[in-house]
Amino acid sequence: MRFLIFGPPGSGKGTYSSRIEKKIDVAHIATGDIFREAVKKDTDLGTRVKGYLDKGELVPDELVNEVVKDKLESIGMDKFLLDGYPRTVEQAEYLDGFVDVDALILLDVTDDIIIKRLSSRRICKECGEVFNKLFNPPEKEGVCDKCKGKLYQRDDDKPDVIKDRIETYEQRSEPVIDYFKGKIPIIINRCRKADAPIDEMVNSIIGQLEEEELVS
Ligand code: ADP
Ligand code: ZN
Repeated sequence: MRFLIFGPPGSGKGTYSSRIEKKIDVAHIATGDIFREAVKKDTDLGTRVKGYLDKGELVPDELVNEVVKDKLESIGMDKFLLDGYPRTVEQAEYLDGFVDVDALILLDVTDDIIIKRLSSRRICKECGEVFNKLFNPPEKEGVCDKCKGKLYQRDDDKPDVIKDRIETYEQRSEPVIDYFKGKIPIIINRCRKADAPIDEMVNSIIGQLEEEELVS
């Protein structure tokens, strides 16, 4: 089971992935989480990527490619759900060069949903769990349900950066869908409501994977 989960910022990749990971035997690997963690810990990688993250710009391909390959090698190249990668056609070609992916899960959402969701999104400083003030609030305001860590708003979830991220997605990332078309199954999950129930979406994704006999 080697899956990609793909969609614009705010489409729910991280939220759904952390739940899918509990239901089927895959490891959720999110490049955004890896980078934010590196920035938090002030590692060498963190120093190299911080500027890009703050501005909502893409980290250079060579750097992301290297990070992902190391990570996949460390888990034996199987049973993964990659979130946030590949994000450019160059990254897709690179990934394709060293591992065969079984399916791409595409989250199809509209721009107005993206903006609504991102501006009310809050993240746990400690464990990275994602909440949403409007649609998926924590039990206690400002506090993580999982680890009691403090919740914060990502700098790149502020309105002026959101616009740039959507543009970057359309220009650089959307072509990745075409790259995989005809090569691997594309499991499309449409969402037309900002507050679509998370469990329903997750069950629908897993249901589709089962239907395609992609889950073992
Ligand atoms: P979102 O999908 O909500 O935009 P992510 O957490 O996936 O957020 O990514 C946050 C940031 O990390 C991106 O804006 C970008 O700077 C960087 N990043 C993550 N994945 C990649 C990637 N595959 N290629 C380039 N940059 C990336
Ligand atoms: Zn937490």
